[in-house]
Amino acid sequence: MASEYNMEVNVLIVGAGPAGSSLSLFLCKEKIPHLLIDKAIFPRDKVCGDALSGKVIDVLKKLNPSLLNEIYKGEDRFTGSYGVKFAAPNGKFIDIPFKKDLEALTNPPGFIVKRFHFDDFLFRQIDESVATVFQGCMIRELKPVEGGMDCLLEREGKEVRVFAKLVVGAEGDRSVVAKKLSSIHKEDEHYCAGLRAYYKGVTGFHEKNFIELHFLKELLPGYLWIFPLPNGEANVGVGMLSKEVGKRKINLKKVMLEAIEKNPTIRDRFANAVLVDDIRGWGLPLGSKKRRISGNHFLLTGDAASLIDPFTGEGIGNAMVTGMLAARQVKRSLAENRYDEKFLIEYDEDVYKALWSELKLSHTLQRLSKYPWLFNYVVNKASRNEELRDTITCMFDDLNIRDRLRSPRFYFKLLVD
Ligand SMILES: Cc1cc2nc3c(=O)[nH]c(=O)nc-3n(C[C@H](O)[C@H](O)[C@H](O)COP(=O)(O)OP(=O)(O)OC[C@H]3O[C@@H](n4cnc5c(N)ncnc54)[C@H](O)[C@@H]3O)c2cc1C
Repeated sequence: MASEYNMEVNVLIVGAGPAGSSLSLFLCKEKIPHLLIDKAIFPRDKVCGDALSGKVIDVLKKLNPSLLNEIYKGEDRFTGSYGVKFAAPNGKFIDIPFKKDLEALTNPPGFIVKRFHFDDFLFRQIDESVATVFQGCMIRELKPVEGGMDCLLEREGKEVRVFAKLVVGAEGDRSVVAKKLSSIHKEDEHYCAGLRAYYKGVTGFHEKNFIELHFLKELLPGYLWIFPLPNGEANVGVGMLSKEVGKRKINLKKVMLEAIEKNPTIRDRFANAVLVDDIRGWGLPLGSKKRRISGNHFLLTGDAASLIDPFTGEGIGNAMVTGMLAARQVKRSLAENRYDEKFLIEYDEDVYKALWSELKLSHTLQRLSKYPWLFNYVVNKASRNEELRDTITCMFDDLNIRDRLRSPRFYFKLLVD
């Protein structure tokens, strides 16, 4: 390698959100040196619903169980949540706990926390005696060269050229690494538009801080969410498939504000609520399609790999799972000194083995959710039928139940029982 490079590294991670930070943390755990860059300076905001599922907790446990203590004790930033409220287009709703026996739980199964705090919490755990970390540093260009990638970074207004044997794209929806090196591109039927607003003074939450998904007729297949946060705040937002937004020329901001002002099941709860930040938008690249997420000398993780759950919009847990699996791949690559696409395909296999069955089911549910009558029917039925409510509860942590939900027999039973 010639001296035209300012740095030469085995692994460059671009982006320190949940995907990039998790990867860095798993590498630090194994004492594997790497370079991690992020264009932002932490703490920084990220447009999101701010809801962390049990999947996030599972990855944190694998990383270091003591990390959870900070979360359990951090009530000024983390709201523990025990379930979800589904509201059907006709306004009827069901409360579904995340676990069957809530009283037996010592800690909440899920959390809501502003990404300003959560991403900073993860980022702060990185061991800088193992990782070299550049904040305020973005990737501008990268091109394949003999044995790796020639990467042009910009840091404090200056260009930095880095040679990396492996580049990991973890820079979210607008990933430069994905754009330059992979065939992934924005497809409106596998992409969702989202808006987020922070309010203070929303009332009427479940005493166990259930997150709320309101499947309003005008937003199907999509929903309005209301998630409780600490200090009397709430994260409120809407998400909808981009294909539908375009086709029906929907102004998401208008729909959200109108629902808050006029919808009979929502408006009273916002009677004294005030907006405390700008309403901000960002995209959700959905994992409703399998894609190649690695290639010669690169891996993609999290949103850069387009892996958000197409029904729930959950992406933080999946991003962290890919960070964990990418660390496994880095270890294998270093051991064999192989970074070619044939070798890296094992990473794709690992990721889809972990996530595909869930993503596929969610895609089915997303497609079904465009029918308001079906939603009304299921919610009506579940509000009367404990077994059905239990089945939905089990969906949150039991993959076999999810398999049952994929079977036509389940829907037949739902209709005729
Ligand atoms: C409106 C909305 C609501 C959502 N609600 C939820 C929810 O409630 N729960 C949930 O689990 N998921 C939710 N998601 C999805 C979730 O936000 C993402 O899946 C998650 O942030 C993906 O993490 P990531 O690390 O892949 O990317 P990001 O979190 O986007 O992190 C990418 C990082 O890369 C950095 N970066 C970007 N470009 C560059 C560059 N050129 N060079 C260097 N660094 C760069 C950024 O500064 C950032 O720190 C929501 C998304 C949206 C848009």
